[in-house]
Amino acid sequence: MSHEPTIFDAILAGEIPCHRVYEDDHVLAFLDIGPLSRGHVLVIPRERAAFMHELSDESAAALGAVLPRLCRAVMAATGCTAYNLLQNNGAEAHQAVFHVHVHIIPRFDDGSGLRLTWNAGTLETGEALAATIAAAVD
Ligand code: 5GP
Repeated sequence: MSHEPTIFDAILAGEIPCHRVYEDDHVLAFLDIGPLSRGHVLVIPRERAAFMHELSDESAAALGAVLPRLCRAVMAATGCTAYNLLQNNGAEAHQAVFHVHVHIIPRFDDGSGLRLTWNAGTLETGEALAATIAAAVD
């Protein structure tokens, strides 16, 4: 578990500039400095939490509530009709900045956007697994 300050704390504090597109008491959204496509936006909670599973219910609710509005704004501004939401947790899951963030990544006909390799398996023991996960929900 990491609660060390990250570059996003400096952005939240206004110490490092960013192209802000939205902010409220709980959330800030700004353009990604290394966009996968035009209009690639990062949405972050003001609360410092490295991973989604550490985020408070209050911040999570605020983050979830604003996402559809920001997706609509990105669609209206860029003209995209398809997009991915990406939220990485852990270095092995491609997380580089250890402050919760959701990527909104428009997908365009020119091939820009998120590229995925979807290594789908076959669900064979779903009943037991679902029960185990269900029992772990706090
Ligand atoms: P992750 O791989 O952790 O999910 O993605 C982190 C994202 O933060 C990357 O897409 C990267 O381009 C973006 N990023 C890192 N540093 C900065 C910064 O200083 N400013 C902005 N606007 N984006 C950043």
